[in-house]
Amino acid sequence: MRTTLTILRTVVLAAALTAASAAALAQSAPGRKTADRGQAAPPTTREMALLCWQEFGELVPARIDTVLAPFGSLEPHGVIPSGTDSLAPEAMARDIAGRVDALIAPTLNYGLTEAMKAYPGAVSIPAETYAAFAESVLDNLAANGFRNIIVLNGHGGNTTALNAAATRVANARRVRALVVNWWTLADDITKEVFGQNGGHAGNNETAYVQAFLPEHIHPERYSPGMASPTPAPAGAYYTVPVASTILLYEKGQGYPTFDAAQAKAYFRRVNDRVAELILDTIAKWDLAGVYK
Ligand SMILES: [Zn+2]
Repeated sequence: MRTTLTILRTVVLAAALTAASAAALAQSAPGRKTADRGQAAPPTTREMALLCWQEFGELVPARIDTVLAPFGSLEPHGVIPSGTDSLAPEAMARDIAGRVDALIAPTLNYGLTEAMKAYPGAVSIPAETYAAFAESVLDNLAANGFRNIIVLNGHGGNTTALNAAATRVANARRVRALVVNWWTLADDITKEVFGQNGGHAGNNETAYVQAFLPEHIHPERYSPGMASPTPAPAGAYYTVPVASTILLYEKGQGYPTFDAAQAKAYFRRVNDRVAELILDTIAKWDLAGVYK
């Protein structure tokens, strides 16, 4: 009887010790600067704006060295939110941050949209101000220890300024930068899902936002006459203000479909493509040994 009790006591003690050491290990995990980055406990949040500075300091760069930075615009978009160009890359960042093991920087909700300023609710930042501000944001992310700076751009009007800012920061800070224009990256997915090309506030952007904000899509306000083709060939003409807020990449194609199933499928496939690009690009940088 006594032997049984002793054995039982030993077993209970061993179990308690195992549990205690596991708890201690879990507590120390986020701050560990070891090679087992993949096994460390996940951060309490991936959003920089929600992390306290102490946890950020423990995570970056020891545990996480990639950041997703959404850049958008505030401008008319057919019958979908004016903030679409910010909302889309922000939703994308939240969806893929775990997969690419990144933190998410706060979104820059304003961009360059001079030709759409005439529309209610639009805001455009002067080009010189925007370029300097965007570069400062990227520069600060590099200064904070991120080695892979991934710009998730939601607005074509920002692209030239963001490419230039990313180039300057990458070379000055010796970090790696990737600027993603998701609607162009997903060109073939758009054609597969909708059977035709897309457009600004067209089938592709409308579906992408409908996937996560269906309550802010307004088909009751839509008519096909609201859409115009973008000038083709490029540069054939130019209008200020832009005469339509739905701009089809190709004449006769890209009208919104407002189909919920299509929206879900499109959102999933676009995000998979962007995550794949990011992982592949980081792997290639590592392989090349640049700015390691
Ligand atoms: Zn847009």
